[in-house]
Amino acid sequence: MTISTSRLHPHGAHRVLEPAGAMPQDAWRIDNTPVAAPNELLCAVDVLNIDSASFKQIREACEGDPERIGAHVMQTVAQRGKQHNPVTGSGGMFVGRVLEIGEALRDKIVLRAGDRIASLVSLTLTPLHIESVTRVDAVTGQVWVRAKAVLFESALWARLPADLDESVALAVLDVAGAPAQVRRLCSPGDTVLVVGADGKSGLLSCAQAKLRVGETGRVIGIVPDGRTQSARVLRDAGLVDELIVCDARDAVRASEAVAAVAPSLADVTVNCVNVCGTELASILSTRDGGTVYFFSMATSFTAAALGAEGVGRDVTMIIGNGYTKGHADTALQTLRDHPHVHAHFNATFSRKTQ
Ligand code: NAP
Repeated sequence: MTISTSRLHPHGAHRVLEPAGAMPQDAWRIDNTPVAAPNELLCAVDVLNIDSASFKQIREACEGDPERIGAHVMQTVAQRGKQHNPVTGSGGMFVGRVLEIGEALRDKIVLRAGDRIASLVSLTLTPLHIESVTRVDAVTGQVWVRAKAVLFESALWARLPADLDESVALAVLDVAGAPAQVRRLCSPGDTVLVVGADGKSGLLSCAQAKLRVGETGRVIGIVPDGRTQSARVLRDAGLVDELIVCDARDAVRASEAVAAVAPSLADVTVNCVNVCGTELASILSTRDGGTVYFFSMATSFTAAALGAEGVGRDVTMIIGNGYTKGHADTALQTLRDHPHVHAHFNATFSRKTQ
């Protein structure tokens, strides 16, 4: 890397290779040289948690073959210097160990070399240098690598909690923005709809919504299949008052099913799916004056904006900012507070590092 120290930027603009003037997230290509500049952290990466919308697209393109998925990830990173899926535009995050702290950061940061952390900023802006992919879990989207990554001065990260399996913590931290926003958006007495209720963010959002709305409120989930283990968790743990089994891409059917159990519609709708085409179902299921929180990376701004206009629904639509103050703690605590959800995450993700 040939960066003059006078150009060092807190958000990593000094790593952008093309186009000029871009920031690392919207850049096509960034410099992934695995060396820490004075205001950067260098980490050894063990596992990548690829964003669900991205992983679904990669898995389909590679016909579910773990070897091809690994090669696909290697190729993206070789081209762009980061795991930034050019089709979905989304990334993920990583778990690893701090190797080196740039000299300008050493007195400003509480981390030390050797600390294990999870990155809380997207892989779409994280300089990543992969030596090899050692294992791919084609179900969970976790990818084991020998790699190094750079975190910028302004990057968010979390120490891995001692009481949770690392792969479980990684899965929860990846979607930490969802339960934390749900906690902020929902009030006692609200009717909350979670679309894609049986995924990682969906389960945690339902759990958090149930806590917030209290006995006078209701939580409704939409899932594509009512027979899965996660759908059972939603029912058995009482995380939803109603579980609707339907394809959320079918806006008419989905919104009619919601109206059948909640004639006044949802006050707050949280979209947690990993597929395109569910904006209208979310909007039509939300009352005038209500809020739709699009956490899904498969959300289309155009479909949401023009869809809401087209059906004359005056809803506030929020883009799912992956960061909300205190999101990591809220998400991890949501897991700890819900033994059924915790057991399900353990069964799905834990011990995958061994
Ligand atoms: P996940 O665990 O894969 O969950 C997605 C859920 O959507 C699955 O349960 C899936 O059900 C369900 N689903 C798929 N198609 C559906 C349909 N047609 N109708 C109803 N439900 C459907 O994903 P996640 O990790 O929770 O992530 C959820 C979304 O958030 C993804 O789009 C991801 O990219 C995004 N994300 C956003 C941020 C952010 O910062 N905003 C951060 C991380 C992730 P099946 O499994 O049965 O298909």
